[in-house]
Amino acid sequence: MDEIAQLVRQCSDCELGLTRKNAVPGEGSSTAELMIIGEGPGSQEDLTGRPFVGRAGQFLDELLGYIGLNRGDVFIANMVKCRPPGNRDPLPAEVLACDKYLERQIELLNPALIVTLGRVSLARFFPGESMTQARGKVRNKDGRHIYPVMHPAAALYRQEVRPGIIEDFKAIPGVLEGIRNAGTTTTPVAVSPVAVSPALADEPSTEQQLSLGGISDASPGPITESAVPGLTSEPPAEKQLSLFE
Ligand code: SF4
Ligand code: URA
Repeated sequence: MDEIAQLVRQCSDCELGLTRKNAVPGEGSSTAELMIIGEGPGSQEDLTGRPFVGRAGQFLDELLGYIGLNRGDVFIANMVKCRPPGNRDPLPAEVLACDKYLERQIELLNPALIVTLGRVSLARFFPGESMTQARGKVRNKDGRHIYPVMHPAAALYRQEVRPGIIEDFKAIPGVLEGIRNAGTTTTPVAVSPVAVSPALADEPSTEQQLSLGGISDASPGPITESAVPGLTSEPPAEKQLSLFE
């Protein structure tokens, strides 16, 4: 993880590298079972080099508190590691250029559950899906358990989305429990160590098909589709909101 962070801090693979003050590689426990993936750094993150330290980050801390966790218990990363100027959405080319770092972070951490925050992060795993449909449901994608939630920054502009985000977070312990229980019913899958090479971009993808609990993409069971009742009736966002501060 440290090597990835070093590479990120030296990176100039997209234009965001030209305007950043500090790259924000991500941080947290390297043994966390929960990985949180946001969109990209805002102004406070750019100033400090740390993820989710602004107002959205304060809300994220609060959300983690509801489930008895703090930042040190999880790993927090972003889709792009450098701040988009003026807090615009990252461009597809920027997301693409930066994805090699996120991909390696996911492989190394091998989290039991990935929580995506916001549209950009949702689209990495479920392109074209609306937040309204996807949020609050865990599904298996490419051998990983993905749980989309609205971005906490959305609640800074729209108070009415706050309860839904809180409710989605409060369901996370149950989701993790379901994944753990499913995992105990089958033979554990061996995880081969992943070497970090300085030439991340040149390496072939070492996608690990970790079948947690034998859940496969083709046969979503009750755990992979455990919708949280009553949460899909939120009105969709009428306009695009900047998720940065
Ligand atoms: Fe490199 Fe990612 Fe920063 Fe672009 S956003 S310069 S790809 S670290
Ligand atoms: N919003 C994000 O998506 N990520 C951060 O790190 C901060 C705000």
